[in-house]
Amino acid sequence: DMTIAGFDPELAQAIQNETVRQEQHIELIASENYCSPRVLEAQGSQLTNKYAEGYPHKRYYGGCEFVDVAEDLAVSRAKELFGADYANVQPHSGSQANAAVFLALLNAGDTILGMSLAHGGHLTHGAHVSSSGKLYKAVQYGLHPETGVIDYDQAEALALEHKPKLVIAGFSAYSGIVDWQRFRDIADKVGAYLMVDMAHVAGLVAAGLYPNPISIADVVTTTTHKTLAGPRGGLILARKNEEIEKKLNSAVFPGGQGGPLMHVIAAKAVAFKEALQPEFKVYQQQVLKNAVAMCDEFQARGYKVVSGGTQNHLFLLDLIDKNITGKDADAALGRAHITVNKNSVPNDPRSPFVTSGLRIGTPAITRRGFGEIESRIVANYICDVLDNLGDEGVVERVKGQVTELCGRFPVYG
Ligand code: PLP
Repeated sequence: DMTIAGFDPELAQAIQNETVRQEQHIELIASENYCSPRVLEAQGSQLTNKYAEGYPHKRYYGGCEFVDVAEDLAVSRAKELFGADYANVQPHSGSQANAAVFLALLNAGDTILGMSLAHGGHLTHGAHVSSSGKLYKAVQYGLHPETGVIDYDQAEALALEHKPKLVIAGFSAYSGIVDWQRFRDIADKVGAYLMVDMAHVAGLVAAGLYPNPISIADVVTTTTHKTLAGPRGGLILARKNEEIEKKLNSAVFPGGQGGPLMHVIAAKAVAFKEALQPEFKVYQQQVLKNAVAMCDEFQARGYKVVSGGTQNHLFLLDLIDKNITGKDADAALGRAHITVNKNSVPNDPRSPFVTSGLRIGTPAITRRGFGEIESRIVANYICDVLDNLGDEGVVERVKGQVTELCGRFPVYG
């Protein structure tokens, strides 16, 4: 039997259960999305069998004539989508894209300046548990404690004091619009490179709904699976700069990776083509509208939204005043089939494992067809659960409503 179900029922059951979970739960994790059946098809294709170390038309293996077509398509579409002169579609993940940029531009022990994990940065922006914090001397900026906005003055002061070789802008949990140019100015003051990691907002950038950092940064990295809605993977982009391009190419391969995942690269090519369609912009506009609608509803129900609202696809609920932990909120909502993640908020008195906040994002619910009406309904379900934490009757009631709502908006049909 060549099917997974026939050969390996235990694994087949796990895959089936996950498929059902994705249909029947409301997905609000801001970094997640549902890729198209076309992307799944490419990822499940025979391209996974092919070794293609090197770059198109300059491979270390024979038989690459067709995977070259796939990679050329992915590269040209990525460049078109973001207005870049250079694209490397080979990084296996966002973290590996970032590691490749560091390898290209830095030496071990050099100083980097990035946003701290606790304030919304990513692990790879210099957190001490990450290679970015172990191999390099990481200095971290954060949010202004009163406004919840990135503290650019602090970032500038840290740059002047520590003279980083690389400044990193970008985030995993921030609901505002980052002033890329301000970071460019900070980098220029100390002669540093500027890397923008736009992983979270790449889909919005592609649709022209969030400032495009390509013309401002030396290098831009992203994942392809968040707002961009493609396969799980990484991407590096840049303007014309032959010296940097060469360094980036050799940092990805052979610097940090071996054979590229050609099936994933093919899936990236499909996803980039999808993102070039007019419907993609309509989708991203709805992502933004849904996030605003949810914020409105939370505020109407007496919940505090960090920085008072959102300008992108995500926002943070601050539960400090409610005396609810992010951990308990996350768990109760999970029992009601609403998936969120606990997240630290500015001035959070609790540890990163407990937290006093939730991060909520709208890319996935919008992808399955939820509009503002459904987004408001979902916000109310969340408030119902949080207002009655400990009341499992409310959890059960909301779970039933979630099941009914999800049934009306199938993801994969
Ligand atoms: N950069 C940012 C800003 C992210 O939010 C993430 C993922 O959450 C990454 C990089 C890492 O991507 P990956 O999980 O593919 O390594």
